[in-house]
Amino acid sequence: MVASFQQRLQEVNPEFETFERLQTVQVNLGNLCNLYCTHCHVNASRRGTEMMEVDVIDQIVRFLGDHPGLTLDITGGCPEMNPNFRYLIEQTEGKAPRRMVRSNLAIMAEPGWEWLPEFCRSHGLVIVGSLPCYLEENVDQQRGSGVYQKSIKVLKRLNELGYGSELELDLVFNPGGDYLPGRQQALEAAYKAELTANFGIVFNHLFTITNAPIGRFREHLEAAGSYADYLRLIAGRFNPETAGAIMCRTLISIDYQGKVYNCDFNQALDMPVAADDGSALFISELDGGGMAGRKIALSQHCYCCTAGEGSSCTGALAA
Ligand code: SF4
Ligand code: SF4
Repeated sequence: MVASFQQRLQEVNPEFETFERLQTVQVNLGNLCNLYCTHCHVNASRRGTEMMEVDVIDQIVRFLGDHPGLTLDITGGCPEMNPNFRYLIEQTEGKAPRRMVRSNLAIMAEPGWEWLPEFCRSHGLVIVGSLPCYLEENVDQQRGSGVYQKSIKVLKRLNELGYGSELELDLVFNPGGDYLPGRQQALEAAYKAELTANFGIVFNHLFTITNAPIGRFREHLEAAGSYADYLRLIAGRFNPETAGAIMCRTLISIDYQGKVYNCDFNQALDMPVAADDGSALFISELDGGGMAGRKIALSQHCYCCTAGEGSSCTGALAA
């Protein structure tokens, strides 16, 4: 029996289960994706039909305009495949000092998508690329055959365009199975050594992210009979030093319909932030300060954020 995450958090500090101060608006453009990864928590695929439309994008643009200084973090699915991706980037120009695109990299090597690297550069976007290992076999096992070579080709192109030097290029590691990531600093050093030695590739930071026991990864754990063990693993490695830094204290996540969540994991679990009348809160109804002091919707999957060095969309919390 695994103790309640909410209780563990309260024991460290009752304030940690409330929202602190808005810094990042994460926007999920939908569940369409060119890949089909085993660890995917949003069940994205080529069959994805959820797609953020222009009216919701306009609400987000308005929100960013009304609350200057926020980071915009764009995710999916494969966010670039949303037909309104360009529109979002063009409309948020000058409205968020830091705009990050979470890319699976391989999309930029697909026929018809070769314009993406230049487009990202011309808009000064930070690219956060998934590369769950520096070894080909492990990447292809998790993401599909040929994905590693496509990712390497794209990373080289991004380097040519100034990514990794003048423009920020970060990579994301996540474990290939039901174990925790190694230490972020050491992994980053290993990635840098391998990618530079083998391909001359440079990048800025490596973010280690713990797999959340939800979505396709949960299905995989259940099929292997290891869901309970994984939950016990992440709960057993609860690190109180990470508790106050969980990203949901400073980030909101918006789905394709404009609903507000505490994070992308809660979004995948359909656990929206509740408005005062108990219904789901929409970005069109939210004021930036309106999140302060709100209780975060916590559940047992939250243990993935506080295990070991901790985990967030920008990597470890106590590295
Ligand atoms: S993990 Fe990312 S790249 Fe892989 S299927 Fe899911 S959304 Fe697509
Ligand atoms: S899963 Fe989401 S709500 Fe739970 S602790 Fe992590 S960021 Fe917060």
